[in-house]
Amino acid sequence: MTTCKQAKVPNILIVDDTPANLLLMTRMLTERGYRTQTVLSGKLALQAAITQPPDLILLDITMPEMNGYEVCEQLKAETALKEIPVIFISALHETMDKVKAFRVGGVDYVTKPFQFEEVYARIQTHLQLRRLEKLRDDLTHMIVHDLRNPLTVICGFLETLDGGEAKKLGNSTQRLVALARRSAVELTTMIGSLLDVSKMEAGEMKLQREPCDFNALLHAVLVTTQALSGNCTLTLAMPETPLTVMADVALIRRVLQNLLSNALKYTPDSGNVRIVVTPFESEIRIAVTDTGRGIAPQYHQHIFEKFGQVEDRKNHLGTGLGLTFCKLAVEAHGGRIGVESEVGKGSTFWFALPLQNDSLSEC
Ligand code: ADP
Repeated sequence: MTTCKQAKVPNILIVDDTPANLLLMTRMLTERGYRTQTVLSGKLALQAAITQPPDLILLDITMPEMNGYEVCEQLKAETALKEIPVIFISALHETMDKVKAFRVGGVDYVTKPFQFEEVYARIQTHLQLRRLEKLRDDLTHMIVHDLRNPLTVICGFLETLDGGEAKKLGNSTQRLVALARRSAVELTTMIGSLLDVSKMEAGEMKLQREPCDFNALLHAVLVTTQALSGNCTLTLAMPETPLTVMADVALIRRVLQNLLSNALKYTPDSGNVRIVVTPFESEIRIAVTDTGRGIAPQYHQHIFEKFGQVEDRKNHLGTGLGLTFCKLAVEAHGGRIGVESEVGKGSTFWFALPLQNDSLSEC
């Protein structure tokens, strides 16, 4: 019983270069039943957060060497730590850049000298918000996971009906079965994306790195995507010399498939889709350019976020997860991804992977 109760006590990491402040905060928080970890510098805070991720961080802004903003930025760049709420601490007489505090990922701030009831209320609110978010994510994950099995059965039957059994059906029924099968496959892909994104976010998907021959990979992807191209012209430009990168081939193949199928999906039938591969210094850069409808600048960042879609196209069957998956997969390889686009002219989605495998990171 005791162990179970203790496991639920929130653990708060307090970061301040003044030992007296650490003592005061620790006393106040332990009196309220919280567990605390205390550290005197930003560097130690990062180490402590990695070793034992806390439920919330109280982070002083003014510290020598690494200030609170820098610490917060580094925390938010780590997949495993980025969801931990950070509340900034600043002294009343100091000028605090509140906009910067929120921009680097802080959720709130408190000022010294502390009004302890206020500090406590803010901590409670953010712990509760985090708990609810996690509960929602866990529930979604569970539901999505459980949808997969019945859907696999439906897909199997529809495949049989659409295959050898199709000739026993009338023409209109055949068409309906084919439509149902296509939608079921799309649903399966969506579910796969949802599960993959949450797996990658939780740091549970390990990269299976192996030498990846880009020439072969791109040609294989082109063969599978050709069927979607309709009347679009699909071209590829890449150096003749072999290009090998240490990468998770299955993940990178899916990144390419996502970018290509988006380019074809959002480009009118007479348009062009072009893939250009360029080795540049220590990177290999792959760009997928289309002559489609383009994306307004305010969406360029948003579309890489979970469920991010361009406002006026929300109704189409899609999840807004494809690009999130691409971003997570590319960044797990130590790479970068981005978009350049102009409404009415088209878009270039590009990603760059390091050629040296020592710059690869574990997902
Ligand atoms: P989905 O296609 O399932 O909505 P994605 O994450 O792949 O999810 O894409 C997010 C959004 O970005 C799309 O809904 C679309 O609005 C926009 N988008 C992606 N690729 C392109 C493209 N090549 N041209 C125009 N818009 C695009």
